[in-house]
Formats: sequence, C-alpha cells, structure tokens
Amino acid sequence: MTTTKASPAPPAAERPGSQLGELHLRGISRAYGAHTALKPLDLTIRGGEFIALLGPSGCGKTTALNCLAGLLPLTAGEIVLDGKRVDTLPPEKRGFGMVFQNYALFPHLTVRANVAFGLKMRGVGKEETRRRVDQVLSLVRLTEHAHKHPGQLSGGQQQRVAIARAIVMEPPLVLMDEPLSNLDAALRLQMRSEIRRIHQEFGLTTLYVTHDQEEALSLADRLVVLHDGTVSQIGTPAELYEHPADPYVAGFMGYRNLLPLEVASADTGGVVAAGRGLTVRGTPVGEQPPRAGQNVIVAIRPEDLRPAEEGEQTVAEAVAEIVEYHGRVLHVEAVTRHGDRLHLKSHRQVHPGDTLPVAVDPERALVFPEADLPDLPDEEATP
Ligand code: ATP
Repeated sequence: MTTTKASPAPPAAERPGSQLGELHLRGISRAYGAHTALKPLDLTIRGGEFIALLGPSGCGKTTALNCLAGLLPLTAGEIVLDGKRVDTLPPEKRGFGMVFQNYALFPHLTVRANVAFGLKMRGVGKEETRRRVDQVLSLVRLTEHAHKHPGQLSGGQQQRVAIARAIVMEPPLVLMDEPLSNLDAALRLQMRSEIRRIHQEFGLTTLYVTHDQEEALSLADRLVVLHDGTVSQIGTPAELYEHPADPYVAGFMGYRNLLPLEVASADTGGVVAAGRGLTVRGTPVGEQPPRAGQNVIVAIRPEDLRPAEEGEQTVAEAVAEIVEYHGRVLHVEAVTRHGDRLHLKSHRQVHPGDTLPVAVDPERALVFPEADLPDLPDEEATP
C-alpha cells in the first residue's frame, strides 16, 4: 500500500540530521571470488531521501549496504559524497549511521549511555552530549526509559535505542539492514511508522534494505529493486506499482498471476496472448510491441482477475480450490483444466469446487516480453 507520507520535512537549516547534499554511487560492484554478488550499480541519493533497496534473499542487498558502509571493499566503481570520494575511506571516516536487525546494543550500559557512547568516543563535551542525547531520546520517545538497560526493554524499544544511537551522531546517511525483521507483525507495523516519522522529523537521509515489498512501498520515496545483483528498476512507489518494468518487478509489486503464454495476435487495440486453454487480451509493456508467435509473460493482479459477468469475454474456466474470507472480498485460488493456478478476488459468493469463468479488463493485464519468472512468496503479497 502506498501510504501518503506525512507533512513535508522542515527546511534543511532547522534539521540537525540533514547534512547530505548528494551521494553518488557510480558503477559500484562487488564480487566474491568468481561470483559477482553486485553488478555495477548507479544511483544518486539526494539529501532527505528515503531509499529502499528491495529484493529477495541473495539478491545482493546486504552486499550493497556493506559496500556503502565501508565494511566491504568495492571490486569496482566509486562512491562520491558531496563531491568527495569516500569509498577509499574506512567506515569510521565515512561516518554513516548503521542500524542492524539484531540491535547490537551494549547490554551493560543504560539506554542513555548506549546513545551517548559514540559521542564520548568522538570526544564531544559533556554538556553538548547531554543536549544531543536528550534531543534524540525525546525524538524516539524513550526519555522515560533513559535509565534502563536494554534487557529491560521490548524489542521495539531496543530498536529505537539502536536508531537513536545512530542518529545522535548526525550522520550524512543512515543505513538500515532489515531493522524490523526480529519484531512481531504488530510491532513491525508500528515501528514502520516510527521510522518514517523519525526520518522526517530529524531530516535524515536513509537507505533501507528489505525483502518486504509492502514495507518498502510504505516507507520509501524511491525504491531500488535488485534481482541477482542487478538493478531491475528504480522509481517511486507509484511508478513501480503502476508501471513495473519487467515481470520480476511486477511479481514483487503484487502481480501474483504471471502466465507464460504466446502472442496469438497483436494490433493497435492490444495483444491477445493464449496457451494451455487460457486467452487474455492485454496491454503490451516495453518499446517493441510483441509479434504473433512470440513468447510473453502476462501479469495480472489478483484484485483484477474476477468471476466473469454474463456474456463477458473470459480468460479461462477454473475450479475454485481454496476460498479465503477477507471481509467484503473473498480470495480465491482456482485451477484451470491444464493445471494453471489463478489467484483472484471475488465480491460474490464462491465455494471450493465451483467452476468459475474468470475475466480481466485488458488494461489490467500487462504483457511483457518473455523473461525469468520470480519465485513469489506463498503468502498473499498484494499490498
Ligand atoms: P539476505 O536477504 O538473505 O541477507 P541479500 O540480498 O542481502 O540476502 P547478500 O548477502 O548481499 O544478499 O548476498 C548476495 C550473494 O552473494 C549471495 O549469492 C550470497 O551467497 C553471496 N555472498 C554473500 N556473502 C558472501 C561471501 N562472504 N562469500 C561468498 N559469497 C557471498
């Protein structure tokens, strides 16, 4: 779900965290021996932006983050922070804030001492340290827990200490690696809003790594979708959601029906793709319109595939196998005669075993040139 972001951040001068003008990643890549985990990545991050790096396990997200932090040397490329090359500097000289999924707090120190630790190491004076620690503790809403030790806090509170500890240093960039993955579902939602609020109120520039597309869509100003170490698409949540560049991004953006079909006909009115008893009229994506006989992937969201009206052109008939009640709408998994599994939503009653003619509006069925298909999670991933 692309949630509306709260009111715009205050002007840069009033925000302690906003020190970044622009950070350029120029062709950065990283190989482990013969395996290239991150292929040349180009990205410009502007001060105040929230960028999500999104992709499944093993796509190279952590490698990219660690290269930025300076924990891993680059194999090629350069990182330029406001005109100054920083990829040759060690992590502490880059000064980026890091927030990990396992918090990494000092258990024997109080919340206040954990947050003050980095300032003390940097030799910041007592008064200044107190002022800055008070400011960030209040921002992360932990003032009344300042005297406690991490073991006395909930997971969400510990994660907020970790965020406070990173941002008290006023870093030009905060790097977050799946910071919510150790929290339960309810707390994850709550902390998601907290992270966005803190980002905005403190005027941070944030790079956030996640495999959760809903988290990425709701938090970020822009998303970078990684696939096998390569960027598939960079864009705003709305751009990616409405106009996925390929079936891989479409799969991530909730197009659960990815049907490998063949073009039966193509004209100015659209494309008709068919195969295994399915026939779909859809809208081509890409610069080259598909030709008859070409292999394509047709992508349809479950909410756009529905039981057909009387007399309507159908995609196929399918037998409902799993019917889940979700309030006003039913989520239905149905299987065609040839064994294709379709995910659809229905506002009318459907029972397991019912045979359904299913339909889609042509502008809601995207037709992509053939490509590798993503492994989609079993769970319903539609935002
Ligand atoms: P996850 O979400 O599971 O953490 P990821 O997207 O962060 O995955 P990376 O950890 O960046 O992925 O790994 C990218 C690829 O590089 C994977 O194929 C991984 O097996 C490989 N890789 C990562 N670290 C090393 C290493 N130290 N040596 C060799 N290969 C590695």
